[in-house]
Amino acid sequence: MKILLTGTGAADGIPSFYGTSRVSDYAREHGGKDVRMRSAAVIDDILRLDFGADTYAQCQKFNLKVSDWKYIAFTHSHDDHFVPRELQYLLHPFVPEGTPTPLILGNQAILDGIAQAFPEGLPIETQLLKSFETTQVDEYKITPIRAYHKLDEDSLNLIIQRDKTILYGTDTGIWQEETWEFLKGWKFDAIVLEATDGFNPTEYWGHLSAHEALSVVQRLRDMGCAPEGIPITTTQHSHTGLATHEELVSFFAPHGIDPGFDGKLIQI
Ligand SMILES: [Zn+2]
Repeated sequence: MKILLTGTGAADGIPSFYGTSRVSDYAREHGGKDVRMRSAAVIDDILRLDFGADTYAQCQKFNLKVSDWKYIAFTHSHDDHFVPRELQYLLHPFVPEGTPTPLILGNQAILDGIAQAFPEGLPIETQLLKSFETTQVDEYKITPIRAYHKLDEDSLNLIIQRDKTILYGTDTGIWQEETWEFLKGWKFDAIVLEATDGFNPTEYWGHLSAHEALSVVQRLRDMGCAPEGIPITTTQHSHTGLATHEELVSFFAPHGIDPGFDGKLIQI
């Protein structure tokens, strides 16, 4: 399996949409791995994870064809992950009538958001995802776990299986015990985990700082969920985390964790 990280930034990206923080200014000056679009990924070229405002730009940058995506799975309905009106461009009159559309998978807030955005109805098949319940789509099994993030909905991190098992966790927060309990016995071949707040923890409990991300990885290792040598990659970095890419590398590399960057390809 392969995971292409097409965006590894938090809500307002890096450089910040509007701000002039040190990390934003560094990214404006140096470009490269310090420039981060809003977080999203593509598994095996056909399973898209989240469909936010930067989707089109990501396709241009990485030469991706949305028509290759057979499935679009959403994690939650925050604006950096979910912009439902963009889905209209998958449909007639933007494409010929009868063009196949991807299957949309998401929690109830996602399905409700789509219904609200398209009161006339959206001719795309949807499927409800619920935390701790496995959904099979063709050769993939998707098992969402409950994030501690946006508590007025079933915010999800996604376990995706084909021949390997991937954990994709943007916007995890510190998982509550029900999630840790569910994770017992799982063994991942790759983990993508947020470290939104970097070196600048905030009051908000719905994101991880770099130290918290490390403690989550340590607990997963202690439980046997993250065997030695599997790729563990960070994502969803905010400029407010006060960390450039190189500073994240200095922090995480000694712990066997790779900071993600836009365009990083993980093959397992
Ligand atoms: Zn969020």
